[in-house]
Amino acid sequence: MSDIFNCEIIKKSQCFEYTDLMISAPEIAEKCRPGQFLHIDCGKGTTLRRPISICEVAGTCVRVVFQVKGKGTKALSECEEGGSISVLGPLGNGFDFSGERVLLIGGGLGVFPLLQAAKTAGKNSVAILGFRSADAVYLKEDFEKYCREVYISTDDGTAGEKGFVTDIQKRIICGFDLVMTCGPDIMMKNVSAVCRDNDINCQVSLEERMGCGTGVCLCCTRTVMRGGEPDNLCVCKEGPVFDSREVYF
Ligand SMILES: Cc1cc2nc3c(=O)[nH]c(=O)nc-3n(C[C@H](O)[C@H](O)[C@H](O)COP(=O)(O)OP(=O)(O)OC[C@H]3O[C@@H](n4cnc5c(N)ncnc54)[C@H](O)[C@@H]3O)c2cc1C
Repeated sequence: MSDIFNCEIIKKSQCFEYTDLMISAPEIAEKCRPGQFLHIDCGKGTTLRRPISICEVAGTCVRVVFQVKGKGTKALSECEEGGSISVLGPLGNGFDFSGERVLLIGGGLGVFPLLQAAKTAGKNSVAILGFRSADAVYLKEDFEKYCREVYISTDDGTAGEKGFVTDIQKRIICGFDLVMTCGPDIMMKNVSAVCRDNDINCQVSLEERMGCGTGVCLCCTRTVMRGGEPDNLCVCKEGPVFDSREVYF
């Protein structure tokens, strides 16, 4: 059961197109798990809350990073340090750390939910972070604090290696027994295919437009294969993290 909290904005920074917020949320920080998300009231006439992943937990604070997409995230980006936001959470099912050597693969905004997973997996983990170009690269140093190694790929080659995260994944996959991934659907589908070819477990964190965030309104249902049968499950409640074989069947 999750509650609504009024959380003070302790720190706010802006980098490239990203807004980075540190909020005071002791109850959430204490019980949240990597891969879970917060449902945030963005204010300024937005009726529905917007889902934003837990990026990092630091003591009694929780960090979220987001990009402005539309009305909700625009309004949220205008919040001020010292002010407060209404947060419902933590919500959803996070990553399952049932492997020792974890490979984290994030693409674009999908990099953000993987930082707390890196912190939890520690020096046994390696991250591959893919971005459009050098100016979009974010959190590299944060991942380097927790991971054994961090690879960067960009579409245009302006930072790290030119190409897709899967080019690097194919090269290094052998040393791992679990992959956690978040990013564009096509990227996660390709990451999952490489894992399947190498018989390695893979967990994907899905994004769907959400209403209530708690499995009541059913607007974020996705057909997944569970127990050999197709099933329509709410991404907010049953996910956002799923076994890749349930999603890409
Ligand atoms: C579990 C979960 C975790 C997320 N974590 C993060 C995060 O850490 N950082 C971050 O920047 N974003 C994250 N998102 C995406 C974020 O919720 C959307 O960008 C936001 O809801 C858009 O709201 P808006 O009012 O600004 O835009 P809207 O006006 O609603 O939409 C603007 C554009 O964004 C698209 N969009 C809206 N909602 C979603 C969605 N849920 N998924 C994909 N596209 C969407 C629309 O199709 C449209 O093109 C997450 C989404 C989910 C489901």
